[in-house]
Amino acid sequence: MKKILIGMFIVAALSACGISPTGAPPLPTPEVESITSTATESVAVSTIPVSKSDFFTQKGIELPSPACSALTQEQTEGPYYTPNTPERNSLLEEGMPGTRLVLVGYVLDQNCQPLANAWLDFWQADANGDYDNAGYRLRGHQFTDAQGRYYLETILPGLYSSRPIEHIHVKVRPEGGAEITSQLYFPEQPIDGLTISIEDRGEYLVGYFNFVVQK
Ligand code: FE
Repeated sequence: MKKILIGMFIVAALSACGISPTGAPPLPTPEVESITSTATESVAVSTIPVSKSDFFTQKGIELPSPACSALTQEQTEGPYYTPNTPERNSLLEEGMPGTRLVLVGYVLDQNCQPLANAWLDFWQADANGDYDNAGYRLRGHQFTDAQGRYYLETILPGLYSSRPIEHIHVKVRPEGGAEITSQLYFPEQPIDGLTISIEDRGEYLVGYFNFVVQK
């Protein structure tokens, strides 16, 4: 009986200190954007921490729940790939002509689970259909965030004579997995399984595309 009482006392003392009796540290309180409420409003509080600087929040972009039917089809690299691109989410430059496009989506594994820290490398032609083969204009790589999301600010690629179909080249590599190379297309000239869904926001387009890769 004495042992039981001592045990109960220790558990109570640890709990009072914020220490779990199992030794595990207490869970941190998630950072959630403060929401101003009035007595008449019902408030939904997200359980996922959302930063005020989050690009998706700023743009009011909500990614649809991912649906996966097959792995993303691979396509040829083509002649214009340049390795060692700068890491960046925006390929836009001052005065760059072209229709603004924000490309967003998830990188998912074969079980449709989002993959954080997956590497993506994009390259494309400018509005006139020209590639920068000397520098890194309209080229850049990035990594998916903790939720497996990527975003790319760019322009619609122009057509070039040898390839009269709008496309963006991309390489994707899950952390610790194999790299794939492919190309994305647009609804005017769709390619099965590789076509971006477009939402026209007037000042710019939002394009949605999820990659599904073997992890
Ligand atoms: Fe190309």
